Amino acid sequence: MSLTEKKKIEKNDIYEIVIEDMTEAGEGLGKIDGYPLFVKDAIVGDTIVAKVIKAKKNYGYGRLEKVLISSEYRVAPPCPVARQCGGCTIQALSYEKQLDLKYKKVKNCLERIGGFSREEIEQKMEGIYGMDVPYHYRNKAQFPVGTDREGKLIAGFYAGRTHNIIENTDCLIQNVKNNEILDIVLSYMKKNHIKAYDEKQHKGCIRHILTRVGYVTGEIMVCLIINGSAKQLKKKEELIEALKKIEGMTSIVLNYNSEKTNRILGDECETIWGRDYIVDYIGEVEYQIGPLSFYQVNPQQTKRLYDKVMEYADLKGEEIVWDLYCGIGTISLFLAQKAKKVYGVEIVEGAIDDARKNAKRNGMNHTEFFVGKAEEIFPIQYEKNHERADVVVVDPPRKGCDAMLLDTIMAMAPERVVYVSCDPGTLARDLRILCEDAYEIERVAVYDQFCHSMHVETVVGLQRKDT
Ligand code: SAH
Repeated sequence: MSLTEKKKIEKNDIYEIVIEDMTEAGEGLGKIDGYPLFVKDAIVGDTIVAKVIKAKKNYGYGRLEKVLISSEYRVAPPCPVARQCGGCTIQALSYEKQLDLKYKKVKNCLERIGGFSREEIEQKMEGIYGMDVPYHYRNKAQFPVGTDREGKLIAGFYAGRTHNIIENTDCLIQNVKNNEILDIVLSYMKKNHIKAYDEKQHKGCIRHILTRVGYVTGEIMVCLIINGSAKQLKKKEELIEALKKIEGMTSIVLNYNSEKTNRILGDECETIWGRDYIVDYIGEVEYQIGPLSFYQVNPQQTKRLYDKVMEYADLKGEEIVWDLYCGIGTISLFLAQKAKKVYGVEIVEGAIDDARKNAKRNGMNHTEFFVGKAEEIFPIQYEKNHERADVVVVDPPRKGCDAMLLDTIMAMAPERVVYVSCDPGTLARDLRILCEDAYEIERVAVYDQFCHSMHVETVVGLQRKDT
């Protein structure tokens, strides 16, 4: 081996490294002579001793053995099981630093992948909108139920990348009412000898407890996901009696899932008490939310984000709007408050059923929804039916917009495009295409919807260039 040749990095090697960044999964990222090592529980700014636990050709994973110099951004996580639980991956990072990292991530992607100049980006980015109190913000929880080594019934969350349940009925990012709900369900199970589902044996009854709480209305839904039939729920009236005493209880539902699968919910639901759904509001718009509905999980930040979409859409009341990748039509209906007509397109049929129901509920007859691929429906409506738009909103999944869809936007040439994104990388890639000739970025706003995880949401307002 020549002197300049680098030593091969191998499993069980020990290194001292400085953590320079955080990954999407919340791991610290440091380098050994340029070789990236991902270390869970390490925080940007830490100097640590890491043991290599997996060495691939171009990168590896390490275990945090010791923090030599603690990062100035390191805080004591307020949740006692933060390190084991797979939910909050970056609770040990101060909230200010979490926001700073997320903002920079978007900025870097726009520069590096989007090809926009630093000056332009700095001038156009509004900053990041975080939460004043980044706890107890979620309106939906799914607790797996199981038994611990001693056979005791437990509910909690999965540890990162496993299906081991970390007992925790008092999750800091969930609604405080969950504690009471879980207590009641677990006590009922113990008293009546109802077994938790065991996924290895594919036996037992209760798999998950799903809860939803309306942020504005306070309405609560409890949904028990069960393997097998409802007959196993002996004396379920006792459970119903206890649950309905909780203030706000509106809906108690069973969901049947007898498959050997990682999917939490099955397709069939049965309401055993109260309504089939809860109701909540985003601003003035009312939404009914069933056990299977996709609904944004951080209602406070969602309202702020949608207000920003409305601001960037700059509606005067006469506009035709297309909301592509519309989910249950939450953005469509929010914008319908100020638009002449709103069309929504979404691939999941059940979501469109919800969108139509909610449009009716709000008396919004000037909305229309399509089930199908946005990249197919939108071009067909444009080419065959000569539909057009003044404003197009896109809110695609992580993989971003399909090229065909971007082409149609540029051909249709709406005045404004509002791009809502959960992945700054694909956002930047798509903006590069849209801004090559046709559009110009007006403003960019970043939102923290998932505090204590590395996920970040971005809203970009684009204006058609004058031709
Ligand atoms: N705008 C919604 C949800 C956006 S999430 C809200 O604010 O709540 C992205 C949505 O895109 C999901 O509902 C997903 O089902 C849908 N989707 C994924 N691929 C799609 C495609 N090719 N065409 C249309 N919708 C798609």
